[in-house]
Amino acid sequence: MRIEKKYQIAINDLIIYLKNSKLLTDERIESAFRNIPRHEFVLKSEIDNAYDNEPLPIMKNQTISQPGVVSRMTEWLDVKNGQKILEIGTGSGWQSAILSYLVDSGTVYSIERHPELVKFAQENLKKLKINNVHVILGDGNFGYPKESPYDRIIITAACNEIPSPLFDQLSENGLIIAPVGDSSQSLVLQKKTSKGMVEIKKQSKYVFVPLIGKFGKK
Ligand code: SAM
Repeated sequence: MRIEKKYQIAINDLIIYLKNSKLLTDERIESAFRNIPRHEFVLKSEIDNAYDNEPLPIMKNQTISQPGVVSRMTEWLDVKNGQKILEIGTGSGWQSAILSYLVDSGTVYSIERHPELVKFAQENLKKLKINNVHVILGDGNFGYPKESPYDRIIITAACNEIPSPLFDQLSENGLIIAPVGDSSQSLVLQKKTSKGMVEIKKQSKYVFVPLIGKFGKK
């Protein structure tokens, strides 16, 4: 896809900022950010802000995540070509598109509870001719057992605890990342081992919109 010069400049400025802030260190993710333009995933009214390092409003009182948070979560998730990924909380579809670029021949399944956002994300992904992302209307608290096991699972909404059904849907040696907490969350990365779930990394002071349902906001 040809990206207009003014957006290429804005993407470049954002990448420089993220690198200087140590929020982006992996060249593959830099390439994903250059090739999956965020302005295609924001509301028209927010297009001038698409390359600010800020979450932006989308429909249904939800947000497209902050670029620095997307790069950090994606780096921690250590995605490889050919993998199968489950995302909980599709929103705009931008995070799914970044993951789809990194898995390349692999597949991304993404669950969203708002039909309007399922449609929004599907339209955004279609504009970029991305066809290895499946957006599904549903309650992400229960994952998507039909296509399990997944090599990686990412939750992009704040949960009180990582939904237990997702552990069963993760392959052995698979990684899961989620923001866990109430008004402020810790980003938690866990690995599934033969002995159970093991915490790999944790970092505090994140703020996400809530996961609605059993393992989030009731
Ligand atoms: N990843 C998104 C992006 O790239 O634009 C941003 C996600 S937004 C921060 C969180 C999303 O989680 C919202 O779209 C919200 O509707 C969704 N969500 C909240 N609870 C959910 C649930 N139980 N099942 C599925 N989606 C849920």
